Amino acid sequence: MPLPPDLHVHTEWSWDAPIGHMERSCRRAIELGVPAIAFTEHADWALVHEGQRAVDIDGYLDAVERCRASFKDLRILTGVELGEPHWFPEETAAILAAAPLDQVHGSIHCIRFGGEMIDASQFREKAGLDFPGAVREYFRETLAMVDSGQPFETLAHLDYPKRYWLAGAAPYREQDYEGEIRGILKAAARTGRVLEVNTTRGQILCPDITVVRWWREAGGQAVQYGSDAHQPDRVAEGFAIATQMVEAAGFKPASDPTGHWRR
Ligand SMILES: [Zn+2]
Ligand SMILES: [Zn+2]
Repeated sequence: MPLPPDLHVHTEWSWDAPIGHMERSCRRAIELGVPAIAFTEHADWALVHEGQRAVDIDGYLDAVERCRASFKDLRILTGVELGEPHWFPEETAAILAAAPLDQVHGSIHCIRFGGEMIDASQFREKAGLDFPGAVREYFRETLAMVDSGQPFETLAHLDYPKRYWLAGAAPYREQDYEGEIRGILKAAARTGRVLEVNTTRGQILCPDITVVRWWREAGGQAVQYGSDAHQPDRVAEGFAIATQMVEAAGFKPASDPTGHWRR
């Protein structure tokens, strides 16, 4: 089966992708036979990491145009990964006004918990953190983002905290957060969102089959794929296993060029 489009890729235009490379990512996609690639750079305004910033959208769009001129056989899509857009409606509106973007992802990375702002990638470093409580808060914040009316189409890496699970803790189980996750999926289906299966550069499916099945049960119509690559050699990593999983959960490739799989 041919690989689906990779609709979540970062390049040198993202603050956390120092070895990202738009042109080489295009070459890699062509090499793999991936029909389309979307460069969804970070637009972060909740600042918890050194050097964190939103994409320079004008410079980025010029770079996309240069790649489109060089790689005529690859469909190159523009995009952005909005971090906590419901906390930053003005900044979100400004970046989306710069140009019509093909892919707009909504992501939660950070929560406000115990009097501070923390990225879920930092949960395990915080001594004494109520870990399940923080994960529950992560899901509560995700629901708030979905319900906020912010204009993003794709719900990205729904269970992001599991990428950074605490060593020695009981393993992550979707069932432990079933109420929270089903609530998010219901809201996402109601608002016409697309659920992303993020392959975490080939490391872990985010979310996995349990949640994709719940998505179907919630009335979710479409699924799309993203590697979340931050360097060219990770483009479309994990897609073979991800498409098998999504198919087993009851979705099939659509005949349109969206790159979505539909029920
Ligand atoms: Zn992200
Ligand atoms: Zn990302």
